[in-house]
Amino acid sequence: MEYKIVERSLFARIARMVLKSKNVAMVLGKSIHLSGVDRHTFLRDEGWVAHELCHIRQFKEHGFFRFLWLYLLESMRVGYYHNKYEVEARIAGTKHLHQLRYMADTSPEIKPGSLPLPTDEKEAV
Ligand SMILES: [Zn+2]
Repeated sequence: MEYKIVERSLFARIARMVLKSKNVAMVLGKSIHLSGVDRHTFLRDEGWVAHELCHIRQFKEHGFFRFLWLYLLESMRVGYYHNKYEVEARIAGTKHLHQLRYMADTSPEIKPGSLPLPTDEKEAV
């Protein structure tokens, strides 16, 4: 999928302040805006990348302004966690975990409760 990464993004920085989180990735159109995390750290996190790529697909599917509007409506209606666009992106972001679990058969450290939910923020490791 075609995308570009914007490091030290002002938009992501604002989101980060609002969310009071250490790092944030947010998608605007085809761009993934990062704040508090550099491109290499972000790209190493396969699930996080898959999550944001899903948002890029949503932008593409619905159109830039229409998707912003739909996303906002959903958030006002049901909140961030139950926002259907976040639910879809979360599923996309955990597909590789299911694959890993399948390959390893047992994987005690991967539990639903330990998934990076509910926001697009991560604690620095
Ligand atoms: Zn998201």
